[in-house]
Parts: sequence; structure tokens; C-alpha cells
Amino acid sequence: MEGSKTLTKALLKWYFDSGVEFNLSKIKKREVKQNILSNSVIEFSNESDTVDLKKPNSFLENCDSLESLHQAVLNFSGCALKRTAKNTVFSDGNPNSKIMLLGESPGEEEDKEGVPFLGEAGLLLDKMLNAIGQNRKNTYLSNIIFWRPPGNRKPTEEEVSICMPFVQKHIELVKPKILVLVGAIAAKAIYGIETGITQVRGNWKTIKLDSGLEVNSIAIFHPAFLLKQPARKKEAWEDLKKIKIAINKNT
Ligand code: URA
Repeated sequence: MEGSKTLTKALLKWYFDSGVEFNLSKIKKREVKQNILSNSVIEFSNESDTVDLKKPNSFLENCDSLESLHQAVLNFSGCALKRTAKNTVFSDGNPNSKIMLLGESPGEEEDKEGVPFLGEAGLLLDKMLNAIGQNRKNTYLSNIIFWRPPGNRKPTEEEVSICMPFVQKHIELVKPKILVLVGAIAAKAIYGIETGITQVRGNWKTIKLDSGLEVNSIAIFHPAFLLKQPARKKEAWEDLKKIKIAINKNT
């Protein structure tokens, strides 16, 4: 209960900071909570191969380019992680690519440089991409969280919810043909599941965005996980091969 109050407060602050105007006095407390929470929730059915990302981002309506979205993220002060981070980490790679990767959150090095996927895990990700003919010149990379969680802890559900409208807008603007969710946290955030990455990885799911855009997506093991469990690289390779086939078909 306390957690959901905190979440509601954070979401209210986020709407407020983002310039959303609505007259709270005219809306009953309960309705406010329901409206705001329902606007931030992604509908997901575990059984289905389709994921509906519902309308959480009307306040970003005027962001019609990656530059304006980047600026909106830079201006945004609704996520507490920003206060402890050195940099906002928005993206790297080719924004015109039809292949978009979404990872978890920046680590120490990414925070220092303002670039996603550096360090050892980033290096392995580059190798994984190279193995299927991809690199940062023909692939677009970002994260579901734009600021480093202190001490590299996992982002909380609240932090994920707060960043999600920006992430959805990001996907809408890039319009990738293939969206690769790198690791459990990104998969959980986009698919809205509790299921572990071992079960979801390697399965194609269509993501339906509010704009009507439908994007093919697939989850893969995070390179940081593969560094700790190199025996799982075999499965990662199977997933990369599926991505390669999809790239050949779609680009
Ligand atoms: N660095 C990132 O930018 N994202 C991750 O998911 C991990 C490390």
C-alpha cells in the first residue's frame, strides 16, 4: 500500500514536471490514482505473442523527432536517479537503423561517458553484434533507464515505470523493424512479465504501440549475464541466428 502511494506520488510529480495540465481538484482522489496508474501500465498476456503498449505518453505528443525526445529526457527531473548520475545516457549507434537494441541501465563507465553499452559487457555485446554483421554504424542502441542506478543496482519498478513513456516514444520515433530486448530487466519492462529471461528469450513477440506501429521483438541474454555464465552463450548464439534471419528478411 505504502509502495503504491509512493508510486502514485512519483507519477504525479512526473506528469507535473513534464507539463501535463489537469485540474486535480475536479477529479476524485481514487480516480486520479486509477487514471494515472492505468496510463502507466503496459497490458500483457503471457499466453499471447502480442504485447499492447498502452497510451502512457500523451504528454510527449509534441516530441516528433529523436532530438526533441532527447531534449525532453534531458529536461526531465521526475526520476531520482538523475540526481546521482553524472550523465544522461540516451543512445548510441545509427538512429536510421531498422534494428534497435534496448538494454537495462547505464553502468559506471556509461555514466562517465554518456554512452550506452561500454565496458566489458558492452564489448561482448559488440562482439555478439559483429557475429551477425551488425555494429554501431548499422544498429541503434539505448536502454530502458537513462541514468545509472547508484552502485549499479537493478532499477526499481518505479524507476522503470517513470522512464517507460520515454522508451515507448523512443521506439515510436525510431520505428525499428526489429527490437532486441537485451536482458531480463528490459524484457520484463516491455513485456510486463515476471517470467525469467530463460523462458522468454528467443521467442518473437509483436509489440503494438499506441501509434498503431507494430514491431517484431525478441529478448536475448544480457552480455553481463553471459560473462558470468559463459555456458549460456550457446543459447545466445541460437537467438542471434534468429535475429540475423529476421534482419535478412526485413532490411
Ligand atoms: N550498459 C548499458 O548501457 N546497458 C546495460 O544494460 C548494461 C550496461
